[in-house]
Amino acid sequence: MTKYKGLNTICTHVGEIKDTQFGGAISPIFMTSSYPFMDVDVKRYPRYFNTPNQESVAIKIAALEHAEAAMPFASGMAAISTTLLAFLQQGDHVVFQNEIYGGAFNFVVEEFDKFGIEYTFTKGVAVTDFESEIKENTKVIYIETPSNPLLSITDVVAVADLAKKHGLISMIDNTFASPVNQIPIDLGIDIVLHSATKYLGGHSDICAGAVASTNENINIIFQKAKNLGGNMSDFMCYLLERSIKTLGLRVKQHNVNALAMAEYLEDHKAIKKVYYPGLASHPNHSIAKAQMKGFGGMLSFELNDGLDAVAFQKALTMIKPSLSLAGVESTILLPAVTSHALMGAEARKEQGISDNLLRFSVGIEELEDIIADIEQAVDQITK
Ligand SMILES: *Cc1c(COP(=O)(O)O)cnc(C)c1O
Repeated sequence: MTKYKGLNTICTHVGEIKDTQFGGAISPIFMTSSYPFMDVDVKRYPRYFNTPNQESVAIKIAALEHAEAAMPFASGMAAISTTLLAFLQQGDHVVFQNEIYGGAFNFVVEEFDKFGIEYTFTKGVAVTDFESEIKENTKVIYIETPSNPLLSITDVVAVADLAKKHGLISMIDNTFASPVNQIPIDLGIDIVLHSATKYLGGHSDICAGAVASTNENINIIFQKAKNLGGNMSDFMCYLLERSIKTLGLRVKQHNVNALAMAEYLEDHKAIKKVYYPGLASHPNHSIAKAQMKGFGGMLSFELNDGLDAVAFQKALTMIKPSLSLAGVESTILLPAVTSHALMGAEARKEQGISDNLLRFSVGIEELEDIIADIEQAVDQITK
């Protein structure tokens, strides 16, 4: 546990590697796959997740998530797949929240059958929706809040308590909130997963993942991870560690901008509906308020019926269409033709994802510039 208390101090300093050779101010990068094995306490090797730069970023992420330990991975999906496989045996069952990240959904439906692992997706995100799916062989409950792309909110304390009551392992994908806005371990969750490609990285230039939990759980995950080999390179660790130094500053600005944009869009005459947990109109706003320190940089909105969402995106000049999210720059995506295209129109409708729904990753630019870009694009498509 770190002696530093403040968020930005943890972001800046925890895990730093001392440059004993030259006294430089930042952590050196050690691009080495070859370490000694004789007369050493730790046998280091990249796929053992224990090189200096891997350890450095792991310590920083653990401190941010109030966890005993953490591990960096080569991608969010490497962290998610390795962690699930680490705790599941043939014959086990998992209760997944209905709205989870598309890649995680694909991993489950494409891979679990061959391992003989059973799964159920809930019908909603109320705690009763999870409770009713628990079976004799259930081992894990897996949630994601705020969710993608509808920003639905799951009651983390209620789900964590439910898992404890039934002796289950609780896992959360904390990517959208980031530890700046939500610390699931303090809310009773066992294992926290991240796509560090998103807010932890924050500059749309690295692919990374992470998991944080107890020493005991991280050791179980490590035993699987060394077999599967999803370790992150030292260079990526270095970039991630450097990115996290500004995580607190960045996410706080994302919070401010996204809340302002959500309020602005909710009042806009060309916009039908806005999904953002910080709005009083969000059905689970009070739960979000209780479990989050800020509401994050992600929101979704629907253009009015009859407006062309593709033309709208093309008309934007600063806000870029992007498959990814959570960079310092504002980006936008149309789930119906990208992340949720394979679902088909009927299934999308059922989940509430209309063809006019836009997922907006609000950046840290000045609000007046973000608004001006939206305004001129709306003008073009309503002319
Ligand atoms: C992007 C993302 C992932 C997957 O992460 P990768 O780094 O792309 O493997 C998982 N969960 C959420 C919520 C994401 O946004």
